[in-house]
Amino acid sequence: MAHRYDVIIIGGGVCGTALLYQLAQHSSIKRIGLLEKYEALATLNSNALSNSQTLHCGDIETNYTFEKAAKVKAAADKLATFIQTLPDRDHILRRHSKMVLGVGDQEVDALRKRFETFSRLYPHMRLLERDEIARLEPQVALVDGRPRPENIVALGSTDEFTEVDFGALSHAFARCACDAPGKSVDIHLNTKTLSITRMENGFSIRTPQGIFESTAVVVSTGAHSLLLAQSLGYGLEYSVLPVAGSFYYTPHMLNGKVYTVQNDKLPFAAIHGDPDILMADRTRFGPTAVAMPRLERYRSGSRMDFLRSFHLGPAVAKVLWDFAVDPDIRAFLTKNVLFEIPVIGRRQFLTEAQKIVPSLRLKDLTFAKGVGGIRPQIIDRVKKKLLLGEVKVDPGLGILFNMTPSPGATSCLANAEKDACRVLEFLGRDT
Ligand SMILES: Cc1cc2nc3c(=O)[nH]c(=O)nc-3n(C[C@H](O)[C@H](O)[C@H](O)COP(=O)(O)OP(=O)(O)OC[C@H]3O[C@@H](n4cnc5c(N)ncnc54)[C@H](O)[C@@H]3O)c2cc1C
Repeated sequence: MAHRYDVIIIGGGVCGTALLYQLAQHSSIKRIGLLEKYEALATLNSNALSNSQTLHCGDIETNYTFEKAAKVKAAADKLATFIQTLPDRDHILRRHSKMVLGVGDQEVDALRKRFETFSRLYPHMRLLERDEIARLEPQVALVDGRPRPENIVALGSTDEFTEVDFGALSHAFARCACDAPGKSVDIHLNTKTLSITRMENGFSIRTPQGIFESTAVVVSTGAHSLLLAQSLGYGLEYSVLPVAGSFYYTPHMLNGKVYTVQNDKLPFAAIHGDPDILMADRTRFGPTAVAMPRLERYRSGSRMDFLRSFHLGPAVAKVLWDFAVDPDIRAFLTKNVLFEIPVIGRRQFLTEAQKIVPSLRLKDLTFAKGVGGIRPQIIDRVKKKLLLGEVKVDPGLGILFNMTPSPGATSCLANAEKDACRVLEFLGRDT
């Protein structure tokens, strides 16, 4: 006999579990199921080892417009407020200094200009001059105790929530959902969704553990969501471009997050250095950004799924060609491919990381094996454009599909609230 629910969420990362929490604790929906294909929650991109652990607020991400920054800030504030209610909040959310560092006259001028506009949105944001940078992050401003030669300035703040363990957060969301009084909340691990079929009164989901039926479904399977949408005939205008991110470790060098200025044509933040939330004695540098033909960073079995959701044709080729002919993007992409090559990669990356810590030496850098994840960037084949941030497919039939590159983890609760509203609307309920 099929398991029957009012709502089924597919995918147990931070986005799926945030929605589980939202529906269990803040709606009248009684029977909610979550299906996760692996043996535990948050083993892919939401795991602390896979992502940059940054609560993205838009203040130090120079590729965000003012509007995008305002939206992300609201989502980050919501998440930080929620985490502060948890008993294990100090393990999940940490305060540090944070800054985006401008090196050289051009970047310094750009940051000074950005400060004029963005300081309206961030009351704690300050323009940090060389002395202040040296006080907060001596390794950034000084070489052998003397000022580094380039012109530098930074935008940032000294004591804000900056660092999140999104893996631990996923477990906390699940715990809060299961504690909801009067609700039937089931988490089915090792339960891979093989196919979804539309029925008269909802959806039928086939898994190796049997059939699950639900009136409404939300698919939050990261890079896999598009494939499931397209198997039902939705989201056919999209392709997924998986962009892998890797990291390097060094001994402790930085006290807080130090981002670099990003090219605003690119949909992800530039490399940065920061303390690792899991290992206090180390600093992480990264992530790199390289297109990779697989939907999961360390599982080659996802290659076929990539091919089925990439749809290489004239529209995708045009987007890739536009990247190749833009000299800045071409340089960025080439550099990032080199970072992944053993031996050469470490040397190339050293030059990049020395922009943050000029005295960094090759022997300090170790490639972080098994660390990093995949950002499922979405290409709109109709508009022939790479889209920035998260994308949702909503055919208006009680099923939603979420594709969640960065800052998807920061926005998980804000997006969960929106998805919960859509689900309630579909079920004809007010709360
Ligand atoms: C290098 C890197 C750095 C990043 N840095 C940041 C950052 O600093 N801040 C930030 O906000 N965001 C960051 N992100 C983005 C962030 O990691 C993601 O937006 C977020 O983790 C997405 O969560 P999710 O739950 O949608 O996906 P995931 O965490 O990938 O979870 C999807 C889940 O679905 C499951 N699943 C897949 N297929 C099936 C199936 N068929 N049946 C059942 N279950 C299935 C998977 O096993 C997995 O558990 C970064 C990403 C990367 C790769």
